[in-house]
Amino acid sequence: GPTPVNILDLLALGELEAIALAAPAQDSLSYRALNDHLDAAVRALGALGIGRGDRVALVLPNGPSLAVAFLAAAAAAVAAPLNPAYRAEEFDFYLRDLQIRALIAPAGSASPAVTVAREQGIAVIELVEEPGGAAGAFLLRGEGKDPVAASRAQASDVALLLHTSGTTSRPKIVPLTHDNLCASARHIVGTLQLSGADRCLNVMPLFHIHGLVAGLLAPLAAGGSVFCPPGFSALKFFGWLAEARPSWYTAVPTMHQAILDRAERNREIVESTSLRFIRSSSASLPPQVIAQLEATFEAPVIEAYSMTEAAHQMTSNPLPPEERKPGSVGIAAGPEVTVLGDDGGPLPAGEVGEVAIRGPNVMAGYLNNPAANAAAFTNGWFRTGDQGTLDTSGYLRITGRLKEIINRGGEKVSPREVDEVLLDHPAVALALTFALPHAKLGEEVAAAIVLKPGYSADEQAIRAYAAGRLADFKVPRRVVFVEQIPTGPTGKLQRIGLAQKLGMT
Ligand code: ATP
Ligand code: MG
Repeated sequence: GPTPVNILDLLALGELEAIALAAPAQDSLSYRALNDHLDAAVRALGALGIGRGDRVALVLPNGPSLAVAFLAAAAAAVAAPLNPAYRAEEFDFYLRDLQIRALIAPAGSASPAVTVAREQGIAVIELVEEPGGAAGAFLLRGEGKDPVAASRAQASDVALLLHTSGTTSRPKIVPLTHDNLCASARHIVGTLQLSGADRCLNVMPLFHIHGLVAGLLAPLAAGGSVFCPPGFSALKFFGWLAEARPSWYTAVPTMHQAILDRAERNREIVESTSLRFIRSSSASLPPQVIAQLEATFEAPVIEAYSMTEAAHQMTSNPLPPEERKPGSVGIAAGPEVTVLGDDGGPLPAGEVGEVAIRGPNVMAGYLNNPAANAAAFTNGWFRTGDQGTLDTSGYLRITGRLKEIINRGGEKVSPREVDEVLLDHPAVALALTFALPHAKLGEEVAAAIVLKPGYSADEQAIRAYAAGRLADFKVPRRVVFVEQIPTGPTGKLQRIGLAQKLGMT
């Protein structure tokens, strides 16, 4: 078909009467109705004075309304979906850093995002769902500003702003254009050979790139349908399988493991489920889990490698009859992929270096961050910060990370951000947050603390302090008190290997 200009053009290919969006216990939305809702939402934003270039934060529970609000905000302005689990301090940072113009939250929301937005002078727009309305049907209500004419974005306009977790400094803002998102969605359609006959069960949050692109845009770009439950639950997953009858789902490894843990007691549903494939991305999937998933669901598991800066997918294992290699993240699946040596030149197959990519899905650069951009781009290649090696058939294996970020089963935690909170505690002299190896999550958050002389605090108190200021997934599960934190050869504190040095592994 014709090259799409913006993400709404991606939807134009679906049969008008085919189902686009569905949700538990709600009427589903056809492509015709989805297009009507999007037109109305774009006009409503214009009437509230929101137009091209304005940044709109979305703090909404997962589900079809968030999906439609995202599409409308991206088409008419710039969408910035935020994790609704954030605490006030986190909203304060993100809303300020993103220079948000308006916040969309559910009518009557008690979220601290609303309070923080008002403090910052940001317009609050209420999303009102019609009682008994179809999936994704809502009205937008807010204080009238100078209306602007509704106009749809161009290919090179930024559609989406997402933060990275931040490893060496504060989190970086990734701007993704309509071009970036359309390219990535099309790459995923190609890899998975998605069609109008496919239905995706999207358990991934719609405030991360995985759920937005692989779980929403790609299936819609193929004219298929998306079933949007209110966020992942292993308990409810099997009910959704029975209700939605999806042909595939995509998830992070921790979710796959939680699903496997409950598969036996849901045997009847599993046996009547017919998945064309199961997709995994965002963290590495242990080969044992691949084998168990394939045996349980009698469907191939397709592991992909992804990151925010690439609008999600970089490489993927292919569908059968092409070869899948467990332990590998597959072949280039959209962008070009190379492995760079210390001198910045490409390495031959079999050698370990830094994985780098280039292609239409890759962001042009972080926002307002020339230093990060100078470090990330070499001769047009974007350096991923991951360490890996290509085999002679072009299959990539990720061997490590050049960064310190904690990957808690796909949820990325910046240890520095946690450090900063812990250091604010009156009894804490020094804090270093680090990854503790964990059987199920891959990594768990832990912290080593040196107390100020004459002060005392216990693990409970430190964790409670952190829990009041950070989303749950960032709160250290283990806190250890030490006389001093081990340092590296140059005297710098070292997170990597800290768990081992402290005898915790
Ligand atoms: P930051 O950019 O702040 O350091 P982050 O890179 O951890 O944060 P994301 O963009 O969400 O945040 O995650 C991308 C990273 O996730 C990749 O760079 C890689 O380290 C990891 N990753 C994604 N998919 C896989 C996979 N299949 N196997 C191994 N690691 C993966
Ligand atoms: Mg990264």
